[in-house]
Amino acid sequence: YENELIKLDRLNLIGEMAAGISHEVRNPMTTIRGFLQMLREKESRYKSYYDLMIEELDRANLIITEFLSIGRSKPTGLEVQNLNHIISSLIPLIKADAANQDKNLQIDISEIPDILLNENEIRQLILNLCRNGLEAMQQSGGYLTIRTYRDPNHLVLVVQDQGEGIKPEYLEKLGTPFFTTKDYGTGLGLGICYSIAARHNATISIDTGPKGTTFYVKFECSSC
Ligand code: ADP
Ligand code: MG
Repeated sequence: YENELIKLDRLNLIGEMAAGISHEVRNPMTTIRGFLQMLREKESRYKSYYDLMIEELDRANLIITEFLSIGRSKPTGLEVQNLNHIISSLIPLIKADAANQDKNLQIDISEIPDILLNENEIRQLILNLCRNGLEAMQQSGGYLTIRTYRDPNHLVLVVQDQGEGIKPEYLEKLGTPFFTTKDYGTGLGLGICYSIAARHNATISIDTGPKGTTFYVKFECSSC
């Protein structure tokens, strides 16, 4: 219980930091974009460079939107949806990620009822868990499995990898903003997952060992 409270504190902290960072970074970017647009008109011989700069700036802006837009306390845009449909729409993307790293993707979804979901957030949650799973498998040929099933009151999303597992001393740090064990990690992925799960009234639990790690995201489901 105490652990849950600490997690909640962390969620609030992440949310506040994320909202602050997006705001502080976006303002100067807007200024720069304005001047770039102006210069593009004036210096037409460099138009292609200015186009590229504006494009890159817009991409950075999108990353902020998608990655740091977790400051909201209430779920926005919940719609009746099927989790399997969201997974299906992500398969090409995850498959490509997996193939790039010589890993395999296994999908094991069973028929489940619709529930209230925010599609963008759930996409982000699934992608973050899958990326972590793929990154955890050092050896090529490993399997990443995405599974869905229902139990009497829940709908469960499972993301399982065959990686090296999470060290016990790291377990309690998961979800802390900027906690990462990777050279190029941001340490924001899981915090975002926890935050998204909390907004959906879902819980995340972890099963980990030397043969791999399994993340369970449990949604309440009255029609299950
Ligand atoms: P990042 O991926 O940028 O490091 P995350 O918040 O996604 O940030 O994950 C934080 C840390 O949790 C990772 O650096 C890693 O040590 C650990 N972790 C998360 N998922 C897994 C997994 N599936 N297997 C092993 N370790 C994991
Ligand atoms: Mg990650």
